Amino acid sequence: DWCDLQDIIGVALRQVEDQIKERAIQFNISAEVPIVRGDGKLLEQVMVNLLDNAFKYSPANSPVEITVVTGKNQVQVSVADRGIGIPAADLTQIFDKFYRAKQIEGNSNGIGLGLSICRTIIEAHNGKIWAENRPDGGTMIHFFIPVPEQDKRLMDQEGSIFNGN
Ligand code: ATP
Ligand code: MG
Repeated sequence: DWCDLQDIIGVALRQVEDQIKERAIQFNISAEVPIVRGDGKLLEQVMVNLLDNAFKYSPANSPVEITVVTGKNQVQVSVADRGIGIPAADLTQIFDKFYRAKQIEGNSNGIGLGLSICRTIIEAHNGKIWAENRPDGGTMIHFFIPVPEQDKRLMDQEGSIFNGN
């Protein structure tokens, strides 16, 4: 299926509305957010999980940034917070099932599944997801998924047929 990444982000944000309250959410969106090939519901789940973490592991009124960069053959999405960060030794393991960094044990709700679900979904879309600490504090989770150029053109043609043009 085809899905509009911009819509997916919008729907995900509405799903976490309760947590947003006092947050400054900043968007850095490249000129054109592409239509991607994939399962919109699952990609929405990825965004919800990443936003949930960003809110959960950062102070109540600190900003969260969503960045979308559209490249030639792929689109990269990043969710950045200014929270507690992730110990360097845990940066890859946090994507494993039930893995939680020691620093947060008993300190917040969760079972350690959110990111493993994200990884499963992103890899099913032939993409990649990884974590990085910000030099000035906080965490960034990035993922990319491919945007096949040829398919995109095909879809444009179909689109114009549906529109009666
Ligand atoms: P669940 O998502 O299942 O409710 P969870 O949030 O603990 O529980 P994951 O989303 O898989 O599980 O995250 C795994 C671990 O990675 C977290 O327990 C936390 O230690 C760390 N982590 C994830 N996102 C962040 C973040 N934005 N800042 C700091 N640590 C994070
Ligand atoms: Mg989580």
